[in-house]
This record gives sequence, C-alpha cells and structure tokens, in this order.
Amino acid sequence: MEPRSAAAVGRDFPYTARTTCYIEVHEDGRVTHGDDRAAYERAVAGKSRLFAVWPGEWSSHLFVIDDLDEYAKAHGIKHDQNRTGLEEHVHDVEWTEATGRDLNPRSPYISIRLNLTCGCEIRDLSTFASQIREQQGWAIATSVGWGSSSSPEGTSYSLRVRRKSLGI
Ligand SMILES: [Zn+2]
Repeated sequence: MEPRSAAAVGRDFPYTARTTCYIEVHEDGRVTHGDDRAAYERAVAGKSRLFAVWPGEWSSHLFVIDDLDEYAKAHGIKHDQNRTGLEEHVHDVEWTEATGRDLNPRSPYISIRLNLTCGCEIRDLSTFASQIREQQGWAIATSVGWGSSSSPEGTSYSLRVRRKSLGI
C-alpha cells in the first residue's frame, strides 16, 4: 500500500487527534510507535521516517509525515504563532484579581482577569502558560476551565493562577 501524503492534507491533518497513531521506521528497519520530540529529531536528521495511521470510518489510511514542520508545530515542538495566537516575545500583561462571592480565600489558586496589551491572543492555554511561567514565574492552572470575553477595549481572559506564583 502506497502511503498518502500528510503534507497534501495540510493543516487539516489530525496530527494531535487521539486516534492518530504514529509509526516510526528506523534506518535499520526497526519499527517503533510514538510521536515524541526524539522521534521528530530523528526524522529531521533523516535517521527515520514517520508515518501515521488515520483511522477512517470504514478503513484506515497510512500517511507519510512529509511535512515535519507542520508536525512539529502541531505537537508544540516548534512554536506556531497562528495556532497559538501568541508571539514568541515577552508579553505585556495587565491583570486584576477577579471578584466574586464564590471565591475561596484559602485556595492556593486565585482567579484573575488578564489583558494582553502586546496584542497577542490566547488560543492555546498551555503554550501561554509555559511562556508566562518562563517570563514571570506564574503557575497557571491548565487543567481547569478558562474563558475569554471581548469588549471594545479588547479581550480579557479569566484564568486560575497559583497565588504564591503571583507574589501575593
Ligand atoms: Zn504577546
């Protein structure tokens, strides 16, 4: 069976879907599974080739991962401004503690409203969380709900942040 081209599918290829299964064929013919950073690096270095099985409703298709750049962006190995809405720079942020009667003062996390005055948008919370951890030391909760609301003044985000990491 001749594998199809993932590059031809473009950005719609389900790189990070849970049902997409990756196969790595090494130089020596060994076949392993997985999609970690090491596999990407071997593929870029030409030491292996990556394939993906994309299960369809009636049959599965084998794809060759021939756009490693797109693969890396989808997996967060390479920064993707389009997907994340975030530039790779030091963000300008303004934040205030959210108010509300349901807030537990003893919780290690507080809710904040955040504005990105640098013009970025948060489309991918885990990317923003790791950037802001590096830049400001904040520990943003990424496993809980977050939200955004737009007004003429811009978009503000409701996030949960570990109180201590904000220095309050
Ligand atoms: Zn920014």
